[in-house]
Amino acid sequence: MSQSIPHIQVPSEPAVSCSNCAACCCQLEVMLITDTGVPPRYIATDDWGGEVMLRLDDGWCAALDRDSMRCTIYEVRPLICREFETASPECLDERKGMTEIYR
Ligand code: SF4
Ligand code: SF4
Repeated sequence: MSQSIPHIQVPSEPAVSCSNCAACCCQLEVMLITDTGVPPRYIATDDWGGEVMLRLDDGWCAALDRDSMRCTIYEVRPLICREFETASPECLDERKGMTEIYR
């Protein structure tokens, strides 16, 4: 005799993914602590003489494609960008901040 197993679908939050994020972390200050080959046109100097990724008036990194919200220099992106992990506490913080702004 077969028995039916009740199946309940629990609605879940969409998984944390860069494809459902407005590149929140690309608005943060990104210091260049190693030379990964970032083109000079994307580099600015901060008040203390350190090199950082240039940000445009809209707040996002100059190397971000505004249409696709993807990094245009992915292969040579700074170390800090490489180490910023999707779904890490820092990532979730940035995403939360963005949700609150647009709410
Ligand atoms: S790492 Fe996190 S904050 Fe950055 S783009 Fe991906 S999901 Fe958004
Ligand atoms: S270099 Fe690329 S990954 Fe890093 S902040 Fe700029 S657009 Fe984002």
